[in-house]
Amino acid sequence: MPRDPGGVVIVGSGLGGYTLAREFRKLAPDAPVTVITADGGEVYSKPMLSAAFAQGKTPMTLIQKTARQYQAELNITVLPRQKVVAIDRAAKQLVLSDGRIGYQRLVLAIGADPRPYTVEGSDSVTIHTVNDLDDYAVWRDGLIPGGRVLLIGAGLIGSEFANDLTTAGQKVTVVDPAPWPLGRLLPKELGEEAATALSAIGVVFHLGRSVAKLEPGRATLDNGVVVDFDKALSAIGLVPRTGLAAAAGLAVDKGIVVDRLLRTSDPDIYALGDCTQTEAGPLPFVAPLMAEAKALAATLAGIETPLTLPALPVVVKTPALPMAVCPPAPGTVGQWRVEGQGRDRKALFVGGDGQPLGFALSGSYAAERQTLAKGMPDLL
Ligand SMILES: Cc1cc2nc3c(=O)[nH]c(=O)nc-3n(C[C@H](O)[C@H](O)[C@H](O)COP(=O)(O)OP(=O)(O)OC[C@H]3O[C@@H](n4cnc5c(N)ncnc54)[C@H](O)[C@@H]3O)c2cc1C
Repeated sequence: MPRDPGGVVIVGSGLGGYTLAREFRKLAPDAPVTVITADGGEVYSKPMLSAAFAQGKTPMTLIQKTARQYQAELNITVLPRQKVVAIDRAAKQLVLSDGRIGYQRLVLAIGADPRPYTVEGSDSVTIHTVNDLDDYAVWRDGLIPGGRVLLIGAGLIGSEFANDLTTAGQKVTVVDPAPWPLGRLLPKELGEEAATALSAIGVVFHLGRSVAKLEPGRATLDNGVVVDFDKALSAIGLVPRTGLAAAAGLAVDKGIVVDRLLRTSDPDIYALGDCTQTEAGPLPFVAPLMAEAKALAATLAGIETPLTLPALPVVVKTPALPMAVCPPAPGTVGQWRVEGQGRDRKALFVGGDGQPLGFALSGSYAAERQTLAKGMPDLL
């Protein structure tokens, strides 16, 4: 390792930016590290946001450390509530709302934006999204006991919120055009079991349906059914934040394009986490992000370390039906082979040559995820 690996400026204090800061600090005890973040810079577990309510946690109790505490613990500089509005690559400076800050090596860990949800009348209704602690505090504020929640989207995050909110006493109605929950991750058999299990705890599903019109407190579906609600939450996916990078002339596609070293098209600028498009595509989950942070920390500390990624299963936080998924790479051709009965199902996604390329597990099979993952092809 070089004696002086040099400093680094990281934009973003989510799991990506903060894990990188921690891993880099381990390898470079004296190098200056600055984290600039648009939010409050608190350390918290984002995956907990869709499981916290039923566990009696509040936005305040989800905070593990304040920005100040993390700054002191790692001996780094954290600049919270500072939005980077542009990257001046010629001057090697970040433009903030009220000043500029120089960098030698820059890392973008700026996450993703909730996909906007628009239908007729949607501008007359507050449709919440939850993608960070600030959003979560706004969402939780004003939820009334036993309130009626309209939840748009039955994907991974939508299904987790449906389980959590229902367990916490809310009356949840889910609308999704897909025929079963987690439609992109589960075959029919498991998807229908998920719908059955969530319905059994009180979630009302309108699957294969869309909202045709929204008015304050009332949604009319495309089959004419009317759903009354107190609060609306959209969970229809995320779009990597590429605007800052694109405006600076960096290569962007579905995310900020990075190579195996997590380097963008500018060799002094790196990126990781939800904002990126790796060689394996966008990977908006914690496990790949941790691997990215470790590899990038080593590279920044002078040990060039290409990213490698084994298959990484994701646990679905739906206690009504424990599930784990390990989706095949996007665009993979193959078919599902499902075994098991009722809640306990094991589905392998098998390619033309008979090789398993991904899986989905429910009930008692969910515990097999780590063992099964070892037999799956590496992502990178
Ligand atoms: C409700 C929910 C549940 C989830 N559950 C799971 C799960 O169970 N398992 C799993 O693997 N994954 C889960 N995920 C996904 C996982 O949490 C994310 O992949 C991960 O947290 C992304 O971290 P990140 O650091 O890339 O982005 P973020 O956490 O979004 O951080 C982005 C940071 O960039 C800052 N920023 C953005 N723009 C600017 C700017 N212009 N200037 C300054 N700062 C800026 C933001 O303030 C923020 O600090 C879940 C996601 C959600 C929303």
